[in-house]
Formats: sequence, C-alpha cells, structure tokens
Amino acid sequence: MYKHRIGFALQRHCKLPVCLRLKHDSNQPPSEPGNYYDPDTINENPMHRVKRFLKRDLNQLVSTFNDPFNQYEDSKLFPKTVDLLIVGGGAIGSSIAYWIQNKVRDGLSIVVVDKDLSVNNNHMTPDEYSKASSALSAGGIRQQFSLKENIQLSMYSAQFLREIKTHLTIPENDPPEVSFNPSGYLYLASEKGADTMLQNHKVQKDAGARVELLSPDIMKKRYPWLNTEGIVLGSLGTLNEGWFDSWSMLEAFKKKAKSLGTYYVEGEVVDFGFKVDPSIVTENDPNKEYEGINSVKVKLPNGEFQQIVFALCIIAAGADSGKVARMAKVGTGDGFLSTPLPVEPRKRFVYCIHAPKGPSIAPMVIDPSGFYFRPDGFDNHYICGKSPDDENEPSTSNLDVDHEYFEKEIWPLLAHRVPAFNEAKVKSSWAGYYDYNWYDQNAIVGAHPSYFNLFLATGFSGHGIQQAPAVGRAVMEMITDGGFINIDLTKFGFGRLIAEKPLYEKNVI
Ligand SMILES: Cc1cc2nc3c(=O)[nH]c(=O)nc-3n(C[C@H](O)[C@H](O)[C@H](O)COP(=O)(O)OP(=O)(O)OC[C@H]3O[C@@H](n4cnc5c(N)ncnc54)[C@H](O)[C@@H]3O)c2cc1C
Repeated sequence: MYKHRIGFALQRHCKLPVCLRLKHDSNQPPSEPGNYYDPDTINENPMHRVKRFLKRDLNQLVSTFNDPFNQYEDSKLFPKTVDLLIVGGGAIGSSIAYWIQNKVRDGLSIVVVDKDLSVNNNHMTPDEYSKASSALSAGGIRQQFSLKENIQLSMYSAQFLREIKTHLTIPENDPPEVSFNPSGYLYLASEKGADTMLQNHKVQKDAGARVELLSPDIMKKRYPWLNTEGIVLGSLGTLNEGWFDSWSMLEAFKKKAKSLGTYYVEGEVVDFGFKVDPSIVTENDPNKEYEGINSVKVKLPNGEFQQIVFALCIIAAGADSGKVARMAKVGTGDGFLSTPLPVEPRKRFVYCIHAPKGPSIAPMVIDPSGFYFRPDGFDNHYICGKSPDDENEPSTSNLDVDHEYFEKEIWPLLAHRVPAFNEAKVKSSWAGYYDYNWYDQNAIVGAHPSYFNLFLATGFSGHGIQQAPAVGRAVMEMITDGGFINIDLTKFGFGRLIAEKPLYEKNVI
C-alpha cells in the first residue's frame, strides 16, 4: 500500500501533522488524468483538483442552462450541486465570495446560504441581516492592535476602503459609498496600561502603522474637552483609522459578488451530510474510515428542506459559527473533531447620545475603563458602548437593549472623561451579537484539519467588519493559490486550538 498526502495544504496553513492521506493501491491500472490516484497531479492545488473533478458535472449543467444562476433565479430551480458553498453572507462571507468569484470568474460555482436574507434577491432591504453583526456594528477601523496580523489586516482593509470604487463598482451602476471618516482612534492609558501601550506602539510602528504617542499635556492642548485625570499616555492613529458605514460595505460586496455570478440562497443550514470515502485514510488511525462532509441540508423560508452538495465549504456564519460547525461534528467527534469551534454570540449595546456642548470633531476615544465613544455626524451626536465584564454578560436570547446599562455602567465614566457629556441624552440604541471567540478573542481563519474541504473564517470578536476586505482576500489566496500570499494568517488557523496555544490580542474593545 502506497499512500499519497493530500494534507499538504492543511499542513501549510495549520502547521499540524498531516492527518489525512489518500489510499493508493500500486496494483491498480495506470490512472487516467484527473484520477485521485494520479501521482502527477497529486500535489496540485486542491481547488484546481476539485475543479477538474467537477468539470464534467459543470459542463452538463452549463449545457442544460446557458446561465445556470440566472436560470435558478427565474425558474426557482435550486442550486443542488456547487463547487464552493459559503455558510453566512455577512461581510466576511460576502467578501470571500467576491474575492474568489472575481478571481475564478466562471470557473467555479459559488453559493452563499444565509438565513437572514430578503425574498427580493436583487436588492438589499432593511429587513435583511436583521441580526447579522455586519449590519449592527459600529463600523470602526484601527491599526492599534497588539498582533502584527491584525494590524496588517486592518491596514489593507483601509486601503481597500479608499479604493472601494475600483473594486466593487458594477458597470452602469452608481459606485459604492461607504463614508469612510478617517478621524483616528485615541487610546488612553492609565499607569497600569502604559507599558502595554508602549509595547503595542512598537509592534504597530514595525508593521508600518502611522501612530503617535501623546503626553497628557499635549492631549489637553489638542482636546480641551478631554479630562486627562488618571491618564499617563495616549496613542493616536493618524492614518487608516476611523469609521465607515458597514451596511453599505456589506451591500457593495454582496452586489458585486452577485454581479460576478455568486448565487445567494435564502435559507438556514440545519445539518451537514457525511460520506465515507474509502480512498482516504486518517493518519493517526489507518484502520478508521474517513468520513467527510459533502453536503448541507437547508431549511427554506417556506419550511421545505433542500440539500446542496458541495466540493468545498466555508463556515462564515458569524456569531453562529460554533453552532454551524457542531453540525459538521466539530466539537462532538473524535480526534481533532473533539475540539469545538469556540465562537458564540455575545450581546453588545450601542447607545446614540446627544450632548449639545460635546466636541464637534473628535477621534474614536477608547478609555482605560473599557468604554468608547465617537462622533456620529457633526451635530453633537455620538455613539458609545462598553463590553461588560465576563461575569455580567447579558442574555443572548433576544436583541433587547438594557437602558440601565448606559445609566449605570457608561454614563458616569463618560461624563468623568468628557464633562460635556454630563448633559448627554440617549436618543436611540441598538444591540448586536459579537462573533465572540471565547478561547482567545481572535479570528479563526483556515482549513479544518479533519476535513479536506472545510474552511473557517470567523471569531473576529468585535473587529471583524474592518477585517472583512483583507480576510476575504486571504481566504481567496488560501483556496485558489494553496497558501497565503499577502498577509500570512497561518497563526490564525484552527491548529492553535488543538495545540492549545492561544493568540491573545491585548486591545480588545
Ligand atoms: C455592536 C457591535 C459593534 C461592532 N463594532 C465593530 C467595529 O467597530 N469594528 C469592527 O471591525 N467590528 C465591529 N463589530 C464586529 C463585526 O461586526 C463582526 O466581527 C463582523 O461583522 C462579522 O462578520 P460576519 O460576516 O462573520 O458575521 P455576520 O455579519 O453576523 O454574518 C453571518 C451571517 O451568517 C448567517 N447565518 C448564521 N447561521 C446560519 C445558518 N445556520 N444558515 C445560514 N446562515 C446562517 C447569518 O444570518 C448572518 O447573516 C461589532 C459588532 C457588534 C455586534
């Protein structure tokens, strides 16, 4: 028995021992081109291989329908067999769909399944994405992170936002407008946090970020509305930081992906389909049969169920990603499958306040106590919020806002830091779910080591909207090029969970 490795891509991304191999029987007749056992093709990019395998099916489809996706839309035919299936069409899933479809064009069929879409599949409506983090985020973008990868991701995303019209304009349509406001983030440090701020500053400078350290005296001059009591150091991002309209960015990604051929299905993924593949053995236990995933069961809005068979699947289901991964036995199976995907919803409140004497221009301010605020327009309106302590996490059963939380936990701190906020009045508020990674509060991006066709892009824990453009590009590289090219996200792989090597980000808001 001679075994070939198919896990090279996983090994590259996860730095894990190769755990899956293809069986090869040397007594078999010479393989035909495209056969799994063909030694000449065994090291090719997995996506190309998948493409080759599906070519016949695709040709059949194409000959049946000239433009399969439009036909589906017109005749309500359902895409039952796809090359790439993305669970979740928020900013992350839609960015991935855009990047891959833009690269491969007609070469692959891509379907995004999302349970929170509108029946009108051509335009986004306000009742879509009603619970998606991408639609409910504060839209902040910063380079002030402690991990090089997070800094690089946000730096590229800022560049992408500046060039968004080049990337996402659809011919003969108005260009997208995401209202990027580059007013910066001002992090404030007390005595306790000053050393960390200095260390982070070095990492940020080394990564090429434009950040400036400010003494309390300088801050007093620049920001006369700020009370610097208890503050020993400030750090201001002077380029590529600020906020933008996350809804418009999501809409632009989705529209562009659709214009390139990605098909969006409104439905909830409720289960995965499994298939035993005798041609693959698991390295740790060669006698054990490899049971892979090859399909999802989708519950449609009318209550019917449909199956979609896929070659590759990406879980980008935001706060529900842990739940979706469990359907694929991630966290309930044996071996590497016993490690769960540690992503769950955590409710966060955003309060929109008005303070007539507040600063008319200000950066996003991050206080050492954990609250943040930033202007929302130029008429003394602001948005603010604060993550609760671990012991006081609010219930996630609904998206109701706790108004007392502002009164008790935020307002006193806010009014202390900016006395003009003594007169603040809450005008409106909303709640959304962080896609919270309870293991180490960082993204999990990469292949799952137990399946050759499952990829993850989730767990951004409050910084996913700003990373969506760069993460979409990174996942595209991983899948179509067999490895990261621009930003190496190897460290963000699932492997760190198995190896029990958490990757902590010190600047979590
Ligand atoms: C209040 C708040 C403020 C935030 N502020 C910021 C910020 O300032 N800066 C920043 O960078 N980030 C911020 N974030 C975080 C950011 O919004 C998220 O990290 C990011 O939007 C995640 O994108 P996503 O596409 O992974 O998830 P989502 O946008 O949640 O999309 C996931 C999609 O998956 C779908 N889905 C889930 N399960 C299934 C299923 N079983 N079947 C089919 N579809 C499914 C959902 O319907 C949803 O549309 C904030 C988040 C919140 C809640």
